[in-house]
Amino acid sequence: MSVRKSEQEDIKVLNIRIEKTTNPKPLPTPENPLKFGTIFTDHMFIMNYETGKGWHDARIVPYQPIVLDPAAMVFHYGQEMFEGLKAYRADDGRVLLFRPDMNAKRTNNTNKRLCIPELPEEDFVEAVKAVVKMDEAWVPTKPGTSLYIRPFIIATDPFLGVRPSDTYQFIIILSPVGPYYPEGLDPVKIWIEDDYVRAVKGGIGEAKTGGNYVASMAAQVKAHDEGYSQVLWLDGVERKYIEEVGAMNIFFKINGTIVTPMLNGSILPGITRNSVIALCKEWGLSVEERRVSAQELVDAYEAGTLEEVFGTGTAAVISPVGALRYENRVMQIKDGSIGEYSQKLYDTITGIQLGKIKDTRGWVVEVK
Ligand SMILES: *Cc1c(COP(=O)(O)O)cnc(C)c1O
Repeated sequence: MSVRKSEQEDIKVLNIRIEKTTNPKPLPTPENPLKFGTIFTDHMFIMNYETGKGWHDARIVPYQPIVLDPAAMVFHYGQEMFEGLKAYRADDGRVLLFRPDMNAKRTNNTNKRLCIPELPEEDFVEAVKAVVKMDEAWVPTKPGTSLYIRPFIIATDPFLGVRPSDTYQFIIILSPVGPYYPEGLDPVKIWIEDDYVRAVKGGIGEAKTGGNYVASMAAQVKAHDEGYSQVLWLDGVERKYIEEVGAMNIFFKINGTIVTPMLNGSILPGITRNSVIALCKEWGLSVEERRVSAQELVDAYEAGTLEEVFGTGTAAVISPVGALRYENRVMQIKDGSIGEYSQKLYDTITGIQLGKIKDTRGWVVEVK
């Protein structure tokens, strides 16, 4: 095992081998719109796992295709996980990460559920920092832009049969991005899905894995055809209670109280969700994590107390919801304008991420 544990932060334990590209790509120009997830940087991080040997051979290499056996288990049984976080460029030029320790923790929660071997948290953070440092020049500077970081693990045993793989690759790729929604903080239209379901308690809904996304596509396509940009899922058993949006957790302001579905085993525990709850509590708002039925939203809407609706996630940070469709009813939220707390949360979180607002919570980690 080349991996040793270390108590101290910033002590490097991975012994990352570095092979620099001899053929760097041109950096995107500032006028480039940086369509989300379409451009990748010059390098990537890779580390291998083998039963008996542990995680080993950490390396940063030129960005390139990976060669896998067509029988590799990830293709057939979906044993894979992923994470998503961003590096931000502060005004003074520093490169900042937002709560990467939370991504490292969540990685291991996902891994446990999917029978993927544990990855030491400090190794996850060290690998992220090292590859971001290598491609630091790719962290864009324009407002609203950042470097999206996509760590993932795939099962690589060439084997047709269902069991956990004995070999894996942990890979990190980087993509400079503009705003997730090209329309910016403009409110999105959301379709509450009451036919298809995404996840059930006891399933893999709280794991960050591709399986949850392929399960969501048919409803996503249906919602798009109806003119809605995202699907809001109901619980998989009764199809009554609100769970989350495709890649975002969901919040409501009902009669002055901030309400969000509690983590029940089928909802992804978002880091933005966690940060929003912490900030709202600090601001003295009453925050409730509990079951929320679609009917409760309809009732609040009719009573005029459904004051704000917004999604939370790394990609968009805060995504105001302007319309919610449930059964045959369309609920217009705030006449399509942005809610006070949606805006305040967006400004505060992005302010902390960009180093404009003092970080008093230990959420920001500099890459140096
Ligand atoms: C990643 C993800 C989220 C948002 O999590 P953040 O940590 O806030 O980015 C929400 N729902 C699903 C299904 C996700 O995969």
